[in-house]
Amino acid sequence: MKILALESSCDETAAAVVEDGRKILSSVVASQVEEHKLYGGVVPEIASRRHCEAVVPVTQKALEDANLTLADVDAIGVTYAPGLIGALLVGVNFAKGLAMASGKPLVPVHHLRGHVAANYLTSPELTPPFLCLVVSGGHTHIVQVADYTKITVLGQTRDDAAGEAFDKAARAMGMPYPGGIELDETAEGGDEKAFHLPRPHVDGSLYDFSFSGLKTAVINLIHNADQRGETLSIPDLAASYRCAVVDCLECNFVRAAEDTGAKTLVLAGGVSANRLLRRRLTHTCAERGWGFFCPALPLCGDNAAMIGSQAYYEFLAGHTAGNDLNARSEMPMEENN
Ligand code: ATP
Ligand code: MG
Ligand code: FE
Repeated sequence: MKILALESSCDETAAAVVEDGRKILSSVVASQVEEHKLYGGVVPEIASRRHCEAVVPVTQKALEDANLTLADVDAIGVTYAPGLIGALLVGVNFAKGLAMASGKPLVPVHHLRGHVAANYLTSPELTPPFLCLVVSGGHTHIVQVADYTKITVLGQTRDDAAGEAFDKAARAMGMPYPGGIELDETAEGGDEKAFHLPRPHVDGSLYDFSFSGLKTAVINLIHNADQRGETLSIPDLAASYRCAVVDCLECNFVRAAEDTGAKTLVLAGGVSANRLLRRRLTHTCAERGWGFFCPALPLCGDNAAMIGSQAYYEFLAGHTAGNDLNARSEMPMEENN
């Protein structure tokens, strides 16, 4: 079964064709990041406009690259939640038009379920059940994936998401938006023990996260050094900060695995590209005899191939939509359409 999938939840306009949830026939991503960089973050109104301009050529290219026409695909998948509402609406309405014109089924996909599915494209041997740490620009969740469309959230962030925490600290260190990748690269050349930063815990919750205090601690460090006329080593600061964030993520994730008896651990979302997080979990899982999976680097960030993969499993579960499908800016991962 071939699915043409669309993604427009944030600042990437993407289209892809995926076969049987596992094989990428084409994947096209048009990123707007250079334009949003000028403003230090994603400007929703600009994002919507750029999606409107890009959605047709990006979809055409995805079909061309797969050597297919609309008539050859079996269904249309689309991200409908969560994300910027104006951005989501572009993909949803375009997908509705395609489904109506072609008479193919329309399959709505939750963006974070798509991030999880990036692993099905990377690792053919991976099947549920598993425990997954979803770490992205807007979300930080520990989820039990009992089956492809049966998901339970065990813990989540109470304030900033992991990606947001990396981007905000990177900005304070003078790196352009989105600074997560540059902070990670810079940290490779630093000493993670150079600065003492907190490892915040959420009182009364074993699996929830809180990153805003950690972010404030690093901003204060930089501010106080500035006032004293001192310059801090950015590589050391980046390494110390990255280590603190990864400690928090790993601690709760491993605890959840121990408590639930999970034997397979999976990473998903943009922050799953983080070098230290990947190394740590590779090591920890090997030590404990757990399986460990993470998406191939090009599939960590937003793309439509991951949406095409999840759409296949949603379709098999009967989760299709009619022409009254609407976008939603927020939606729990647990909820089925
Ligand atoms: P969401 O998926 O929650 O809706 P999003 O789609 O904007 O948010 P993603 O595309 O999944 O987010 O991930 C982008 C985030 O990942 C950014 O915050 C970016 O800085 C971060 N990121 C990317 N690579 C790395 C890295 N190597 N280390 C740390 N953070 C990274
Ligand atoms: Mg993006
Ligand atoms: Fe995302």
